[in-house]
Amino acid sequence: MRRIFFALVVAVGFVLAGRAEAKKIHVVTTTPDLAAIARAVGGERVEVKAIARGDQDPHYLEAKPSYMSLVNKADLLIYNGLELEIGWLPLLIQGGRNPKVLSGQPGNLEASAGISVLELPSGEVDRSQGDVHPLGNPHYTLDPRNGLVIAQTIATRLQALDPGDAQTFSRNLKQFEQDLQQHLAQWEMRAKDLRGRRVVTYHKNLEYLANWLGLVVADYLEDKPGVPPSPRHIAELVGHMKRDNLAVILYANFQEAMAPERVASQANALALALPISVGGEPGIITYADLFETILGCLEKGFGGF
Ligand SMILES: [Zn+2]
Repeated sequence: MRRIFFALVVAVGFVLAGRAEAKKIHVVTTTPDLAAIARAVGGERVEVKAIARGDQDPHYLEAKPSYMSLVNKADLLIYNGLELEIGWLPLLIQGGRNPKVLSGQPGNLEASAGISVLELPSGEVDRSQGDVHPLGNPHYTLDPRNGLVIAQTIATRLQALDPGDAQTFSRNLKQFEQDLQQHLAQWEMRAKDLRGRRVVTYHKNLEYLANWLGLVVADYLEDKPGVPPSPRHIAELVGHMKRDNLAVILYANFQEAMAPERVASQANALALALPISVGGEPGIITYADLFETILGCLEKGFGGF
């Protein structure tokens, strides 16, 4: 009798394990930040792959066939939106031939829903001059408070796709929120002396980070997002930096270093490269790791707060 009972338990175990394996939701995200949050919220119930690496500029990615095949196998495609991926995601969706992830389907999720977007354009959107932020600033994952909004958006969609595991997603979401809230309090305390510090940035991709930490972005290397700086603008920038004692240029570690280094040397300033995405440096695995590393870089760059 006991032996039969044991065999039954094992059999049921196998069936449940098989069911769990079969039911995993295949999530594909455009960026590694979204992948890290999806992994935290989805836990064991999801298999998550990111298309862009953290050391790549998400504005400019080649629409490779290998990315199309990722999109082809996805149950859920999560993207940043606000036209961050406009140059390549439409091609991947077209080439992926997966009806589940087409716009308007439950398998298509734009993560910017619910985010307070910075630099929203007023009036007519003008793309004629090559501005790559026509719908407002798309680099919102660099404010960790937005991580809470994104996690909620992803959890809600996972619950809709897989109602049977709704409680698991709720539990994971709660855990993610608690961890991040705890970190937020520590980070804000640690960075309090940064408030009001003026910096120059290369591209407009640090606005959300600056907004969170109270840094003031006083000028940019690019006159318009995505448009290479003209020699005239560089000369004006160097003048501005000298006049106003702007001593730090921040730029993403995937951007070319030559221009910021040259401007920094002309203006007696420091050019500081930051990882700005999960995977942007070895060891940045989770969304919280990203801000730990960024704060460490800023502390080093500013010589201790
Ligand atoms: Zn940008």
